[in-house]
Amino acid sequence: MLDVVVVGAGPNGLTAAVELARRGFSVALFEARDTVGGGARTEELTLPGFRHDPCSAAHPLGINSPAFRALPLERYGLEWLHSELAMAHPFPDGSAAVLSRSVAETAASFGPRDAGAYRRLVEPFLPKWDVLARDFMSLPLTALPRDPVTLARFGLVGLPPSTWLTRRFRDEKAKTLFAGLVAHVMAPLGGLATGAVGLVFALAGHARGWPVARGGSQAISDALAAYLKDLGGALHTDYEVKRLDDLPPARAYVFDTSPTALARIAGLGRFYERYRYGAGVYKIDYALDGPVPWTAEEARRATTVQVGADSAEIGAALRAASREGRPPEKPFMITVQPGVVDPTRAPAGKHVFWAYAHVPNGWTGDLTDTMERQLERFAPGFRDRVLARAVAGPAELAARNANYVGGDIGTGAASGLQLLLRPRLSLHPYSTPHPAVFICSSATPPGPGVHGMSGHNAAKAVWRKLRQQP
Ligand SMILES: Cc1cc2nc3c(=O)[nH]c(=O)nc-3n(C[C@H](O)[C@H](O)[C@H](O)COP(=O)(O)OP(=O)(O)OC[C@H]3O[C@@H](n4cnc5c(N)ncnc54)[C@H](O)[C@@H]3O)c2cc1C
Repeated sequence: MLDVVVVGAGPNGLTAAVELARRGFSVALFEARDTVGGGARTEELTLPGFRHDPCSAAHPLGINSPAFRALPLERYGLEWLHSELAMAHPFPDGSAAVLSRSVAETAASFGPRDAGAYRRLVEPFLPKWDVLARDFMSLPLTALPRDPVTLARFGLVGLPPSTWLTRRFRDEKAKTLFAGLVAHVMAPLGGLATGAVGLVFALAGHARGWPVARGGSQAISDALAAYLKDLGGALHTDYEVKRLDDLPPARAYVFDTSPTALARIAGLGRFYERYRYGAGVYKIDYALDGPVPWTAEEARRATTVQVGADSAEIGAALRAASREGRPPEKPFMITVQPGVVDPTRAPAGKHVFWAYAHVPNGWTGDLTDTMERQLERFAPGFRDRVLARAVAGPAELAARNANYVGGDIGTGAASGLQLLLRPRLSLHPYSTPHPAVFICSSATPPGPGVHGMSGHNAAKAVWRKLRQQP
């Protein structure tokens, strides 16, 4: 009998499998798709030679992940590539705010009235970032906090809504960039603990940058999978698990799936029925004839570029998608242009470009024209560079990956208490009513993103349980 079977080869399933195999447990992993990766994959979606990331592309959480940093992923081919600026947020007048490795450069981009307030916000946390990241990403406390005082201070600043936190800024530049950071987890700006979300992204950017993976996000998954194989783990692709009986006998089963799918597969009845899914995403991958013609030169020096004219516009776009059930008129977009640092993504002189906006869960319309009109405000002439586009609304995203229920790429709304306490109000989020069944997907803390920390935390719960058994 195997020690552990893992279902789903996303970053969390792969990390859980690796962590358990490293500790000497026998592990087999089963993945529905024909390749590993889940939300960290790379494919030629448009034209030959154009290598797109259909899901994740930018990795402030990956490079800062305590779990990934403890694994020898570079030995298995992972290389982080950094642009000059970690991230840029251009404005329609051609100016820009930036998130740079340097706090001083970032603060200066907000203008003299907000530079000091920004420094006072981030500087106390930066020297303690590594310990804080580990403590924060292990909530609700799968390990005792190493620095409870800093964690408590961070909680005081971050637990209120981001709109409270940004009251310390007087001008729009800082408010807008910060609103964009919060929008990375699709949380409405006025929600509980959204200040912490923005702060985590800012601190992550200052501490280690906001890189892309050379060759595409698939490199992260391939490195994890290659390490797993070296550790003796078995990997089975093209294997969709529909019932527990589809799997070989094992002492523990770890699911990198949505709670809803897990309840169905493992017969958990209504255990997760109160779990909520959030807004969906509309994703476009472009093949371009050249770089994006941003008006702001800062935006040409960053792999990640946030697109939204001001904090009110960003707030309205998030509200439309998550509360009002309609698509945004002026969408907030996260965009990534890996070609700024990675020449392997497209033929010489050409570029891939990645953009998504938020839409209501399950929305079936076409947002392409609205998104391109919004891009033209910041990069006039963008449309003239388009050679081809691959478009995916909520239905296509859910068809690519069962975890994206209704196009929710966070596998569950990151709002209200569910931002922190997911998939249920429990101190044991990785356990289920079935004593041998565990969940490790981004439906568990610390939530969405390619960081493997949900897998890491779940693996810990599994090995503690297995070591108690004879
Ligand atoms: C468009 C988009 C953009 C994103 N951008 C970023 C970004 O820039 N940076 C970032 O950090 N994150 C980003 N994310 C989020 C990130 O991809 C996810 O949070 C992350 O992949 C979650 O990892 P996971 O292991 O929990 O689940 P997933 O990566 O979703 O993997 C789950 C895996 O389980 C498999 N599976 C599901 N059900 C079954 C079954 N029944 N049997 C067998 N296998 C099954 C799926 O096929 C999949 O491979 C983005 C996601 C999307 C879709």
